[in-house]
Amino acid sequence: MTAVSDSGGLVDFDEALERFDPAMGLEVHVELNTVTKMFCGCRTEFGAEPNTQTCPTCLGLPGSLPVVNGKAVESAIRIGLALNCEIAEWCRFARKNYFYPDMPKNFQTSQYDEPIAFDGWTEVEINDGEGGVERFRIEIERAHMEEDTGKSLHVGGATGRIHGADYSLVDYNRAGIPLIEIVTKPITGTREKAPAVARAYVAALRDILLGLGVSDVRMEQGSLRCDVNLSLALAGSDKLGTRTETKNVNSLRSVERAARYEISRQAAILDAGESVLQETRHWHEDTGITTSGREKSDAEDYRYFPEPDLVPVAPSRPWVEELRGTLPEPPRERRARLQAVWGFADLEMRDVVAAGAIPVIEATVAAGTTPQAARKWWLSDLARRANEQGVELADLPISPEQVARVQTLVDEGALNDKLARQVIDGVVAGEGDPDAVVKARGLAIVSDEGALSEAVDRAIAANPDVADKIRDGKAAAAGALIGAVMKDMRGQADAGRVRELILEKLA
Ligand code: ZN
Ligand code: MN
Repeated sequence: MTAVSDSGGLVDFDEALERFDPAMGLEVHVELNTVTKMFCGCRTEFGAEPNTQTCPTCLGLPGSLPVVNGKAVESAIRIGLALNCEIAEWCRFARKNYFYPDMPKNFQTSQYDEPIAFDGWTEVEINDGEGGVERFRIEIERAHMEEDTGKSLHVGGATGRIHGADYSLVDYNRAGIPLIEIVTKPITGTREKAPAVARAYVAALRDILLGLGVSDVRMEQGSLRCDVNLSLALAGSDKLGTRTETKNVNSLRSVERAARYEISRQAAILDAGESVLQETRHWHEDTGITTSGREKSDAEDYRYFPEPDLVPVAPSRPWVEELRGTLPEPPRERRARLQAVWGFADLEMRDVVAAGAIPVIEATVAAGTTPQAARKWWLSDLARRANEQGVELADLPISPEQVARVQTLVDEGALNDKLARQVIDGVVAGEGDPDAVVKARGLAIVSDEGALSEAVDRAIAANPDVADKIRDGKAAAAGALIGAVMKDMRGQADAGRVRELILEKLA
């Protein structure tokens, strides 16, 4: 079928919002960082030799029996509590039946109508575009336990997908790794903010999970994956439209882009009088588009039934309360506390939050820098670089400790800001630690007073008119001479000291 959608028809985003209201549902799968798998004792290390972390249970061999990983249940409960969910007093696992070559049992052990956590909420903030923040409350439908599948590798062919591949390989190391699937209720009323809200939600969830210490939450390694369900309804109508599910979007930026793209694409289909097909879609990072996957099954197609090989999970109330006591400070309180400790103005803190810079600033301050200096580096030079490379601040190839060291060199007078920026260039380019870059590139400030004094003399001799003005008491004119000296010294001088020397000599 050739739909408008796949012939490239797109409606301009803002125009689409004039006629349609988007509704979103976000499903996030997070891999827990337990040492062993969900139902067996196999290890879970990322990147091990293929098929070395398997056993009869996670390979689904006949006669093998699963046992629930208690640590995974504990993590699931803590996640549920952090998302303000109710925790089930009694719940079961269920078999979700479907065939997939990387799922050796031909069913996924998941939870169906008895999730361990349900009816929660969390709050996200986005910039309102006018210097303030807008808060959205996201209702959480459920968080349930399940297991990951193995991983297929399609060899040959242009796309890395199964179509056109010469053959496929399967690695079962990932099969059986504990997953928590967190599902929102439909998110409506966000209008043109929908893509930003989707991104902010996944970012907030990542921060919560990071704070809980239950997962590595590395989107690029697949330990946090987001499915973006999106539908459009006619503006003002309270009926939900047909949704598509864009699978496994693996960066925050892509979550926002995928939502935006689907709004433009579905608007074109509806404008043409066609119907949106209920289907899964693939996100293409390189081209920024989604393409058709498979027609989406409804729950009844999976023939869920309670897992007969596992006992129900019945967390006692005292245990749940004990786990509640282990929750970290909620992100919003944490932000308020850090803002007070750091002494940031509202506007400064807002930029820090928007840039996702709290963790890196916290680490830079812990490494011995003032909060303002840490903020300055991460929100100017480093934010620009992260933006250019399309990565998060924490993924830049420079550590908070290295940033702190650069600032220490500035504070000690060994570097000025301009030189410090070049040192950061070097560190990011992989030339080593700040001290190594200073040495290799010869960037330190010239502290040799003799050399400095000679350079000042040269500048005065070359600019007699300026020198006369300063002699006449116009200290403001010193700027031109400072500039000349800095140029002469290739930037490697302390501008403050240069100024002192000039004024001394022309007093
Ligand atoms: Zn196993
Ligand atoms: Mn799932």
